[in-house]
Amino acid sequence: MAKLPSYLAMRVPLLDLSEQYCALGDSIREAINDVLGSGRFILGPKVDAFEKAMCAYYNTPHAIGVSSGTDALLAILMALGIGRGDAVITTPYTFFATAGCIARVGARPLFADIDRETCNIRPSAIQECIEKTCQPDASGAWKTKNGEKLRAMIPVHLFGLCCEMEALHKIAERYRLVLIEDAAQAIGAEFPFPERTAKAGTMGDAGLFSFYPSKNIGAAGDAGMVVCQDDELAQKLRTFREHGMEPRYFHHFIGGNFRLDEIQAAVLAVKLPHLETWAAARRAAADFYGAELARARLTEKIAVPAEPYRERGLTNHHVYHQYVIRTPMRDALREHLSKREIDTAIYYPLGLHEQKCFAYLGYKKGDFPETERAARETLALPIYPEISRDAQRYVVSAIAEFFS
Ligand SMILES: *Cc1c(COP(=O)(O)O)cnc(C)c1O
Repeated sequence: MAKLPSYLAMRVPLLDLSEQYCALGDSIREAINDVLGSGRFILGPKVDAFEKAMCAYYNTPHAIGVSSGTDALLAILMALGIGRGDAVITTPYTFFATAGCIARVGARPLFADIDRETCNIRPSAIQECIEKTCQPDASGAWKTKNGEKLRAMIPVHLFGLCCEMEALHKIAERYRLVLIEDAAQAIGAEFPFPERTAKAGTMGDAGLFSFYPSKNIGAAGDAGMVVCQDDELAQKLRTFREHGMEPRYFHHFIGGNFRLDEIQAAVLAVKLPHLETWAAARRAAADFYGAELARARLTEKIAVPAEPYRERGLTNHHVYHQYVIRTPMRDALREHLSKREIDTAIYYPLGLHEQKCFAYLGYKKGDFPETERAARETLALPIYPEISRDAQRYVVSAIAEFFS
């Protein structure tokens, strides 16, 4: 193995938020001070202002701030009345919360395998899953073999790339499914319909974002948001985030405490105007990885992220929440990079169908071969808007060192 010269060595974290904080620290501290002085800590003027800013940026009539991405999804499912006796289709290759929320409201998660290139749920796999495991009843509603009613589908725009929404719309229409987008990793990402482009989260009945600190815009703690077009659903969601209460102490529904803090909204409002610039910087870093990996002839050995919408005139064809490469030698490569002080991560090491807590669903190893393969082969490299080209060159030379 050709040794890297030691003068090149540096530590490369997976994500470094310090530069962003240096640039915005004053404004963030000022915004937090406003909140501390105001004595309003939950669902006040800062939440209102952030919701309005999101509506404007996202060109959507409703944005509802909530306590996390997980709670956003929980609130959506509850407000849609999805629960016991229902089934919801999603991907087994996602963060746990997506399927966890389906199970928590009492519905059954039904998994459909992913596309090998993008790691997003594959529309034809959804179609196969429905045709194989469900049947229409006399009213035309599709039911599982256990009699659960197929109600919704939750595609996840994984790593910052939108799912194939045109195909998913057709499936939603054919089987009368509610379409909920898990856009926790894809805020700002766009999808090219033939006549228009649309943003992640606005292409279905409801969409959710997470502002977990490591997401593309991160709060100073937990925070999330729901966006939707329908006035009635939006009103319901606002009620559900406060225990189904309207007016105070009169409860129409059994909701939860899904409220957003003023401090989090204040921080997010400072960060939102930078989202596009940060996404562009993430894309530039991804392009640089791609070019350097190709130059080192490493693209013959590892697969780089697919960019299926790049050529269709979109600005935000990918927002690179993660830059994920693939190789069958993933574990050995990861160990090598770790010795070179380069942090990497595995999203995700085990498909949800093989998780212990979902054993009751009756899936087994081998049910979702592409998910299982991805779980063995994917590796996330360091990426964030401020990552230096030197750090990226060092990462690529360490990968080259491994394969030489
Ligand atoms: C982060 C994430 C969530 C959950 O968001 P939290 O804010 O951490 O609750 C849900 N789905 C996906 C795909 C995520 O990446």
